[in-house]
Amino acid sequence: MKRPLAVILAFSLLLGISGCSSAPELPEFTDGVRERDETYPAHIETKSVELDDLGIHFSTNAFDETASVELAQKVAEDYAAISGAGEAEVYILNEPLTDAPFVSGAELFCSAEAVESGEYRPALVSAALNITGRWQAEGLSRELFGGEVPDGLADEIAVYLSAHEGSNLLSLAPFYFTEDFADAETIALASDCAQSLAAYVIGEAGQGALRGSCSEYLPGWLALLGLEAETEGLQTLMELDYTQNVYYPAEFTRSVFTFRPVPTEWMPDADAASAHMLRLCTGLDRLLDYLETNAPESWARIEQTKPYEVSFEESFDVSCVDVYSSVVHMRSESSGLHELAHALTIDELCGEAGWVFEGVAMHCSEWWISYEDYEMFFDLAENIDTMESASEDERFIFGEIRRIFKELSGVDVSEAQTLESPAIPLVKAMTYAMLLHPERDVFIKMVSKPSADVVSSFYKPKYPTTVLSHAKSYAFCEYLLDHGRLTLDQLVAASLDLEGYRAAFPTDEYFDELYAEYLDWVREEYSL
Ligand SMILES: [Zn+2]
Repeated sequence: MKRPLAVILAFSLLLGISGCSSAPELPEFTDGVRERDETYPAHIETKSVELDDLGIHFSTNAFDETASVELAQKVAEDYAAISGAGEAEVYILNEPLTDAPFVSGAELFCSAEAVESGEYRPALVSAALNITGRWQAEGLSRELFGGEVPDGLADEIAVYLSAHEGSNLLSLAPFYFTEDFADAETIALASDCAQSLAAYVIGEAGQGALRGSCSEYLPGWLALLGLEAETEGLQTLMELDYTQNVYYPAEFTRSVFTFRPVPTEWMPDADAASAHMLRLCTGLDRLLDYLETNAPESWARIEQTKPYEVSFEESFDVSCVDVYSSVVHMRSESSGLHELAHALTIDELCGEAGWVFEGVAMHCSEWWISYEDYEMFFDLAENIDTMESASEDERFIFGEIRRIFKELSGVDVSEAQTLESPAIPLVKAMTYAMLLHPERDVFIKMVSKPSADVVSSFYKPKYPTTVLSHAKSYAFCEYLLDHGRLTLDQLVAASLDLEGYRAAFPTDEYFDELYAEYLDWVREEYSL
């Protein structure tokens, strides 16, 4: 690949100087200790040597009178090769907490082997230059330490992309650099891309630009390689606010949420993880925008939502929000935005408002649900007549769902994939069909099971939460909004706390009246 001449000269000069200079004489090692903290939760007793801004610390059980001196010399040499290096504290440990070198701020933690092999160099570059981005540190490290971009990189990328449809490789998101999410071949290609893009950015704007996301350089770099790609999503992924966490392979914060993705059944690799995070983040942006615009009074409180952790670990069977500990537990692909909406619109759990929690969360996120997420229901509605195991009642109800779906959306169920938000008419059609024919013996969990039965571990549900399912709550909330009975602001306030709930629904009798009026409307509009 072509690189501007000035950059090549600059680096030749730099490497030339560092190549001539011998590493400084090491002073005496002294005893010290690094106390456990949140960043690196391990108590480390050290043998340390300090060279101006560079501290090299061996844990006492990793220290060897001869070998450690040589290793420290190597670290000092590598450090000297980094132009503009500032403070760096290198900890060399017998049993680091992470397999790969870990860096946070100016501190880096790794094994002696990682130093010997050079694997720790990107972390050293990150620490010494305060370059926090994973690919930026990787790319610059390769530039500084003599890595080479393969001649056929563009072809390699094209081959990879044709074999991985929808891949976000070119975002160079951290998922593509960790063995948790990527195989060795993918990591190697991501690393080649990182060097190529870093060299391009340095040529355009200098080394300091690598402290930013560099997303603005992506189109120019792709053009240089002769590659065509839709860059909007890739750039969003590049711009995520990534941080380091010893316990998680990737971490980033958006709005009040700190996402800590780990591989799951539905998010097994870097492509799936980056695609899901992108979908979740663009959905979250739109959700926040929607609430700010349409529920301005509640927005003042939503803005104050305390920080939430979004966990993908398999400690829960179903997705849920733990309002007390401020943790969103994600256990399926389709529940993502719904759970984030809960976190934003529940301030105080109370049994009375339990049904409104669901109605409001679904109203705010049902547009985000894809055809694939609800494919099972679409499939039933389309094919129930040819399914041998289906009962007479099921055939009837799904026939009704088919009829009402068409009335609501204007298209047949078989064409649901052409709709932007197919879940909205589907959930309403399922709800209306079941409300119109309660005598039919059909169970669809979303419609049949009261939300109280699903979420009761977090609060003591009270009427009417005890009778309304997720879907029934949702369809009723939609009715209240569409018919001007309540504004979105009032509904969100009803979800936020009991005071807001009682302002919207002063008594259970008032709820009953409204609900009876709604049932009349359903019968009038959607009966056969
Ligand atoms: Zn929910």
